[in-house]
Amino acid sequence: MGRIIRLQDIEEEVLKHHPGADTSLIQKAYIFSAKAHEGQTRLSGEPYLSHPLEVAYILAQMGLGPVTVSCGLLHDTVEDTAATLDELDEYFGEEVTDIVNGVTKIGQLTFGDKLTQQAEYLRKMVLSMAKDIRVLLVKLADRVHNMRTLGHMEPHKQRRIAQETLDIYAPLAGRLGMFRLKAELEDLSFFYLEPEAYQQIQEGLMRKKGEREKYIEEVCELLRAKLKEHGLDGEVSGRLKNFYSIYRKIQAQQIALDELHDILAFRIILTTVGECYEALGIIHHYFRPVPGRLKDYIGMPKANLYQSIHTTVIGPYGERMEVQIRTHEMHRVAEEGIAAHWGYKEKRALVEKDAQRFAWLRQMVDLQRDLTSPEELLEGVRLELYPDEVYVFTPRGEVKELPRGSTPVDFAYAIHTEVGNTCMGAKVNGRMVPLRYELQNGDTVEILTSPNQHPNRDWLQFVKTSRARTKIRQWLKASEREQSIALGKELLERELRKHGLNKLLKEGEELRKVAQELSLVRLDDLFEAIGHGKYSAGQVAGRLIKTVAPEPEPVTELEVKPPKDLGPIRIKDLQDLLIRLASCCQPIPGDAIIGYITRGKGVTIHRADCPYLARTESFRQIPAEWDGHQQKLYPAKIQVVTVDKPGMLADITGALKAADVNVTKASVETTADHRGIANFTVQVADQQHLERVLAAIKRLKDVISVRRMTG
Ligand code: MN
Repeated sequence: MGRIIRLQDIEEEVLKHHPGADTSLIQKAYIFSAKAHEGQTRLSGEPYLSHPLEVAYILAQMGLGPVTVSCGLLHDTVEDTAATLDELDEYFGEEVTDIVNGVTKIGQLTFGDKLTQQAEYLRKMVLSMAKDIRVLLVKLADRVHNMRTLGHMEPHKQRRIAQETLDIYAPLAGRLGMFRLKAELEDLSFFYLEPEAYQQIQEGLMRKKGEREKYIEEVCELLRAKLKEHGLDGEVSGRLKNFYSIYRKIQAQQIALDELHDILAFRIILTTVGECYEALGIIHHYFRPVPGRLKDYIGMPKANLYQSIHTTVIGPYGERMEVQIRTHEMHRVAEEGIAAHWGYKEKRALVEKDAQRFAWLRQMVDLQRDLTSPEELLEGVRLELYPDEVYVFTPRGEVKELPRGSTPVDFAYAIHTEVGNTCMGAKVNGRMVPLRYELQNGDTVEILTSPNQHPNRDWLQFVKTSRARTKIRQWLKASEREQSIALGKELLERELRKHGLNKLLKEGEELRKVAQELSLVRLDDLFEAIGHGKYSAGQVAGRLIKTVAPEPEPVTELEVKPPKDLGPIRIKDLQDLLIRLASCCQPIPGDAIIGYITRGKGVTIHRADCPYLARTESFRQIPAEWDGHQQKLYPAKIQVVTVDKPGMLADITGALKAADVNVTKASVETTADHRGIANFTVQVADQQHLERVLAAIKRLKDVISVRRMTG
């Protein structure tokens, strides 16, 4: 860095961004810090004070005001000197103290390589950030200076700090829209982590320096001239992308170092938004645009405030040319991000307009609260930090930002947990889509909800956001318990009725005793244990009978009463999570069915004639019947035997289509005696529907037989 930063430099830099600001706080902080750090030196041999001075200067360059800049001066006093938080509070007040305290707390943690350690680090970071984003800004400035002076550290520390910077601080800077800082942190980390690759890129770029500069000048001239023809006076420049991003692109084999255009980006800076669109029109007029590469972040800004139009066009030598168009103000925000925004008003509370921009931060706070396992938390934070995002609209035109690959279910949960929990369907741009549809940029998404609809375990297979995943898991967990309790209660009641003892269920005293014997606290826990298959209803009833009637006499009396039948378990639309259809026999409404109480997985419904069911323990079987109007479609396997002739499969699928039935699986084989055997899985509403389907196939000319498969 060469030049030593002085207090005066810092004050001047602050005043540049905030003319007329009161810098007395900064002077006070300087004196406090100088006293506290007196006699300390850095590894470089410089007086320690040089570090807080540099950090404060970096913050001033970001455009931050006296409070944050003072925190830069004070940020290491509590951690590394005899100064205390109380002293800070006395001299500088609560605001400064809280920020310094936040920075100190983060400083005491190590990211480490253990998952739990990393998760804890992120958790603390997110919380302090959410309390006051300036904590992170000071920490970032601190990290920038530490990275710039990392050369004085021992190699193993260099690597650890560089890795931490690349994993945490550079992405955070990007998330805050501070691209200049992000690039610097990435390149410095890259230098220490991959010294050889860094050098290769550096040398490769040096070799082509002359050629590159000539090309940049030529293209800039050309762009300037075209803009001028149309009366636009823009600042045009060409620049090299940062080393680390070049390295990553080379690694992903997306670009070659020799191809100049791959590592360059041109930029046009104008005064008004209107001029930006005008410039885009001019460029697309003279240079053929590459389809799919136009991105309008002016009309649709990124969540981190970034605005620009990006386009790629075919340049003068037939090469691809990346051009970014923006206004001066947008450029400032792109370079400095949140700091540029923050500089104007050093306020603690986020104003409403900002709240939306910080939605991701709020989400991270939710995440760290909801995700208790370190793996989940790290995965969630990673998604939030490295967003490859899509922008979609609510029907009212609000923009929602989601990770690429998100589905309507993610969207629903992004709006509100309740919307997610009752989401039954989605319309994208006015058309119904499946819930697993992958949202595209610019989609308008409308979520259809119904109070009777609930989260489905299958959703976990396609949702992309941790928020949706967490909320679905929470709902399933809660409702599984609820349903286990209900099922357990019903099973026990059924069992007790057989013995005419069902009043015991209501009075509960004896039942409570049984629960205690089994080390269960509440009655609900006992029911849950039965519903979940941990104890059978028979076992519990047996214990209960022993409790009530230790003498054999009353039992015989009870046995006189004929066992009552409670009636079958009713299967309603399979809303019930603890009831599922057996995949062996695939029952459909209309089939005679029997429930099988599994160990720990609720009740499985089999067809009464299922051969598998016949081999199971009969005490686990309970009567069941379909209940109510079924709205779902159920899979059924059918087999069609035909004369082997070409086009037969098409005939059958045609007939299935005419019968208005979906085929989800099909296979065909030919036998030695010239028959075709086709197996299908079709989706039907009930048995009648299936009958109609079978009849439709039977009517086909060359069909020999058709039947539903039994297993
Ligand atoms: Mn520091």
